[in-house]
Formats: sequence, structure tokens, C-alpha cells
Amino acid sequence: MSHSIAVVGTGPAGFYLADLLSKKLEHSQLDLIDRLPSPFGLIRAAVAPDHIATKNITRQFERVLQRDNVRFLGNIEIGKDISYDELKACYDTVIIATGAIEDRQLPLEGADSEGVYGSGRFVTWYNAHPDRYDFSPKLDGKHIAIIGNGNVALDIARILSKTPDEMADSDINPKAQQLIKDSPVEDIYIIGRRGPEEASFTPFELEELSQLSQAVPLVYSANGESLLIPQQIGEGYDGRESKIRQKNLEILQRYSENQAGDNAIRLHFLFWHNPSKINTENGRINSLSLNKTQLKNNRLVETRETLTLPVDTLISAIGYRSTPIPGMPFDQPAGVVRNEQGRVEAGVYCVGWCKRGPQGVIPSNRADAIEMAKTIIADLEAKPSDQSNNQCRTQPKPGPGAIDELLSARKIRVVGTDDWHKIDQAEIGRAPEGKIREKFTTVEQMLAVLD
Ligand code: NAP
Repeated sequence: MSHSIAVVGTGPAGFYLADLLSKKLEHSQLDLIDRLPSPFGLIRAAVAPDHIATKNITRQFERVLQRDNVRFLGNIEIGKDISYDELKACYDTVIIATGAIEDRQLPLEGADSEGVYGSGRFVTWYNAHPDRYDFSPKLDGKHIAIIGNGNVALDIARILSKTPDEMADSDINPKAQQLIKDSPVEDIYIIGRRGPEEASFTPFELEELSQLSQAVPLVYSANGESLLIPQQIGEGYDGRESKIRQKNLEILQRYSENQAGDNAIRLHFLFWHNPSKINTENGRINSLSLNKTQLKNNRLVETRETLTLPVDTLISAIGYRSTPIPGMPFDQPAGVVRNEQGRVEAGVYCVGWCKRGPQGVIPSNRADAIEMAKTIIADLEAKPSDQSNNQCRTQPKPGPGAIDELLSARKIRVVGTDDWHKIDQAEIGRAPEGKIREKFTTVEQMLAVLD
């Protein structure tokens, strides 16, 4: 008997799991559903536009879309066009893979001032996400601060520092490219509340900052002197993590010997500082107050030393939350789908960042998908009387035909696989020479290609 599966969200986690289930579950029919007319989630919306090799993973995902038992259903928002309950009523198995792209709020007074942005908003803007069509961040000052010591903070610092020539083959939003080009920025502060050893960025991304044509990475302490970077990491890290952290220290040691020289942009790593206040004038940020910190018995404590930096634009890169779908169990404090090892409720599962929070690199989602495929298949194979594995079995459902009827009755313009390929070709076709593609920046532009 055919088994119907809906995967909501078409980022890496959704595609990896769709790949496994569409192969392993004989006679399955799988629909990959997305709010946008385009698939691939964070690969299009959040991976830095100059990380073209990373984006090439979509070729692998395209092969999943070619399978006879897989459909792409774009331009459908669950919770708006189709309710969560309707989705559950149509498919035997529903998998939530909606990722996490809402910004975690900076817990500071003034966080909603003009010139203060979350990294999710900022990153989706330079990646031409349709939700950011009207967004135009203030990049009109000399001083930009980025809070957070993760890879997203480094991505943003790098994109803000690159010249148009260095971005020539990227798929950056042209409006963003223009604004960045016109920005008079001279100083970008990358602020960590802990030290170089505790930073969560990785060596590849850190090293990229040494290859910029008009910017130089510097490591300063608050009093303007070079910060002493430890030679050796401490204890308590496992093999892979200790290698990453040790390599980070080595790179930062090199950066601490750099001089500003005549570089147009200085990238200052400022460790051991916790933001304490966003200062404003006429509703716009003009400086950032910070408290110096230190670790005491492994706990972060603030010292009495303070520092105030002139800041015209502040970007907080401190992590993300998932967006709840109305009716779906959701853990508000954690900002993830409420789940136990990926099981949400009968017949419903979750995978990726909406399950475990915004952690890990793209291949981490493959490991997660392998785990979830095992769980889902084990639940399907379990006898109805066997309660030991908290199985999520339900009565057979009508399958994709039922969702097609609902969508058609509601006159929802579904974007299928072939439609997506037309949009894809149109984006590639309209790109200036040398660029991989020029994305459409609104849903209307994408649909116009089809009509
Ligand atoms: P992240 O790696 O978790 O880093 C978040 C940073 O924000 C940490 O330095 C954290 O400090 C800091 N932070 C959190 N709350 C704060 C607060 N209230 N005040 C000050 N600082 C605060 O997150 P991310 O950079 O958003 O990246 C998300 C995931 O995507 C990561 O797994 C990352 O590796 C991945 N990613 C990978 C790539 C790539 O492979 N090229 C690119 C982008 C993102 P503490 O450590 O002290 O909490």
C-alpha cells in the first residue's frame, strides 16, 4: 500500500530526509512543501552569497526532485493556505523541517532602535529573500559592530568588507551590493562575550578574513593594545573540537600581529566584552556600552571595567529561533518544535534546526536525517500493540490527491518541480556575465516567469 509523506520546509534537513525516505520506503509518495516558489531553504536564504561551493549542494538535492515518487509543492504556506490539522489529515507521515531563521532578540534596552538588526534579517537581505524586499539597513556610518563569535558573525563581517570585484561571481542581491559598496564603513567590531578559545567560529571562515583586498583583521584589547592570544587551548575539548579551537588560536595569533596599514576597513576582534547598553540619539544607535568580562570557575562574570564604542550600525549574530506553525506543538522558551527525539505527535516528526536548534554545519543535518529516517521506519514497522518505542502510527490517510483538491478548491497557485526549473533558468539567464545567478527578489517576479 502506498505511504504518503509530506515534508514541510525544503532546506538541507528536509531534502536529506526526503532523499532517504523516498528511497527506503517502497511505494511511498513524498511531497516537499515550501512557503516560497523556490526550494532549498537556507542554502538560498542564508549561506553567504560568496560561498558558491557550499551552494552547489543543491545539485544533489535536484536529483531527489527528479524521482518519480517526489514532488515539489512551492508557494504553499502551512498555517495559512493549508492548516496543520488539514496537513495531518492528508498524509500518513508529516515531517516538519522549517529550520530556524527568526532572530533571537538581543536582551538589551534599545535593541529595537534604528540601525540595530538581527543577523537573520541582515543575511536574508543580502541573499535576496523575498521577505526582505522592502528592507534597507542603515550602512551610512563609519562604525559597525557585530555581536557574536559564530560563523554568521564572520560571514557578515566578510560580506561587508568585500569589494564588488570580490563578489563578482556571487549571487548577492544587487541592491545589497550597491548599499555595501556605497557604505563609508571603516571599522567593524566583532564582539565576543567570551575569549578566543571559546569562540564558536571555525578556522576556514576565520582564515577567509586574511584574504580580503581592502580589509585587515586585527585583535585588540579594549585599551588598544594587542591582545595576548593563548598559545594552547585548555582541557575539556574532544578530538575534533580541540583541533578546531587550537587552529582558531593560531590564526588569531597571526592576526594579533597585524597592523592597520592603509587598509580601508579594519576588522577588530574584541573578545571578553558583553554588550550592556545601546545608546541612541533621535531613536538611532550612536554608541554601544560594553562590560569587560572574565571566566571565574567556568562562569562568565562581568568586571567593573567598561568600554563605549562609537557604533552607527549594530548587527546581533547571537543565534536563531524557529517559527511556530499555528496548532503545532512548540517549545516557546527554546524556540523549537516540541519533540522527543524528533517525534512530535502521532504521525508527525521534525528534523534539522527546528528540532535541535541552530547548531552545526550543513552535513550535521544529514546525520540528523539518517537518525530520523530510522525512527520513522521503525515506528511504521512496529506492531500496533507495541507501545515501547512511543510509536507514532495513525490510520491510513488519503494522500497527495486530497491536498491537491484542497489547493485547487482554494485557488492556490502551486509551483511544481517543472515550474521551479523555469524560475531557476530565468534567474540564471538574467544574471550579468560572470555571476552564477541573479535571484528574483519577490514572489510576484518568480510567478510572472510562469504566467
Ligand atoms: P553560534 O555559532 O551559536 O554563535 C552565536 C554567538 O553568539 C556565540 O559567540 C555566543 O556566545 C553569542 N551570544 C549568544 N547570546 C549572546 C548574548 N546575549 N550576548 C552576546 N553574545 C551572545 O551561532 P551562529 O553564528 O548564528 O551560527 C549558527 C550555526 O550555523 C552554527 O552552527 C554555525 O557554525 C553555522 N554556520 C556555519 C557556517 C559555515 O559553515 N560557513 C556559516 C554560518 C553559520 P557564547 O558562546 O558565549 O554563548
